[in-house]
Amino acid sequence: MDSPLSPPTSCDNCGLCCHLQHRPPYLPTELDTLSAKLQLEVLTADESSPLPCIWLTPDHRCRHYADRPEICRQFELASEDCLHQRQALLIEGDINHISSEPQS
Ligand code: SF4
Ligand code: SF4
Repeated sequence: MDSPLSPPTSCDNCGLCCHLQHRPPYLPTELDTLSAKLQLEVLTADESSPLPCIWLTPDHRCRHYADRPEICRQFELASEDCLHQRQALLIEGDINHISSEPQS
């Protein structure tokens, strides 16, 4: 398993970048391309909804991966933002599905 302290090689069993927002971060123009069902799901969640994103599944995957927002597509594995997010949540100590032990 990847450690948050080293660059990850896969998004499997992570999903920590999905802990940055309460709902899928679509631009208004993107929302128009979604089905009515998915639009309703997105629009009924707001800042009062608990983190993480409403579409993150218990096994740390995007429930509607094929329809995910553009900004989610652009969030790159092992990028500076990816590493920052993994390390920040580790320090907060409220994420326990990823080992905090450095890889040997
Ligand atoms: S991009 Fe980084 S933070 Fe997001 S799921 Fe992949 S490894 Fe985790
Ligand atoms: S829409 Fe999917 S990929 Fe984007 S933050 Fe939510 S769960 Fe993560």
